[in-house]
Amino acid sequence: MRARTALLLAAAVSLTATTAAVALKAGAWELTASRHAIRLSPKPRPGCPDCKGEGGWWSEGLYPGGEMCWCWDRPVRTLRLLPVRDPWPDEPPF
Ligand SMILES: [Zn+2]
Repeated sequence: MRARTALLLAAAVSLTATTAAVALKAGAWELTASRHAIRLSPKPRPGCPDCKGEGGWWSEGLYPGGEMCWCWDRPVRTLRLLPVRDPWPDEPPF
């Protein structure tokens, strides 16, 4: 059910994303849509039992560093959109 909602949202975003980039946060993924591509960026899971939604463990101070949690350490998925060809190239726009 949740995946289906995300699919519907993705379809709606791809239909409405004409000029401006649209960012949408759905579950553990952040969906960014522009004219040229749709990108799914991983987000830390809010209900992760290990990092409690923090996405990892960070230490500050003398030796700052951190470690990403397994729930966030996933590749970014990008779907490139092909340019839309004008179906009537000879017609005036109005
Ligand atoms: Zn986690």
